[in-house]
Amino acid sequence: MPDKSTSSEPTQAAAPETVSAARKIYSIVKYGDPILEKPTTLVTKFDAELEQLTEDMFASMYAASGVGLAAPQIGLPLRVAVVDVTGGKNPEAKIVLANPEVIHAEGEKREEEGCLSIPGFRGYVLRPQFVTIRAQNAKGESFEIRGEDLLARAFCHEIDHLNGVLFIQHLSMLKRDLIKRKIKKLRKQGEW
Ligand SMILES: [Zn+2]
Repeated sequence: MPDKSTSSEPTQAAAPETVSAARKIYSIVKYGDPILEKPTTLVTKFDAELEQLTEDMFASMYAASGVGLAAPQIGLPLRVAVVDVTGGKNPEAKIVLANPEVIHAEGEKREEEGCLSIPGFRGYVLRPQFVTIRAQNAKGESFEIRGEDLLARAFCHEIDHLNGVLFIQHLSMLKRDLIKRKIKKLRKQGEW
């Protein structure tokens, strides 16, 4: 993220940069780790710790140039994910999804998709063009949000993660097996 610190900031005020500098960057769990294929448990504690976790998840996601990150991808079996399809360009586009569920889906769109836990591999996945989801933010407040195209895709992809489902499970068996074989080879070579 660009450094926006300027001399116009009052010196006593805690600059946002101080906060982001303190963020923990999690390493992202890769395909093959069983945590990615297990369901998660509901978020019940909406406290400062959860707020910190979700901010750290945003920072980790931006560091990896992703547009979504789910807790299992940092090794936590918790029903929370973060999404920002602007990649950090617009602070208002940051969406915390605690306990999300799809309440409406419409249309179909087939687009190429990837995953931070399966780096280097992409595949075409059929997803709804529009989805409305209901979730809670980091404070526990319920909200509904409608997403279209990439945002709808990100919502579905992240909710899948929270159910232990990866995008390769939506591919044909042939394509999925090909990716799995390549990953197996990479792992043997110590490159995964
Ligand atoms: Zn993913």
